[in-house]
Amino acid sequence: MSDEGGDPACWLHRVCPECGLFAVEDPPTVCERCGVEVPAGGEAPADTHGRG
Ligand SMILES: [Zn+2]
Repeated sequence: MSDEGGDPACWLHRVCPECGLFAVEDPPTVCERCGVEVPAGGEAPADTHGRG
């Protein structure tokens, strides 16, 4: 259980959960490629069961 710095997940929240495109700005934003909403601070979307 390493709790040291250097977490690569610091930029994962910028990646589109749908196509994997890197967002041009900090979320919440919308992917300019597929139009999917990029949530802020969401690294485990598998825990989301809500169907909006
Ligand atoms: Zn996308």
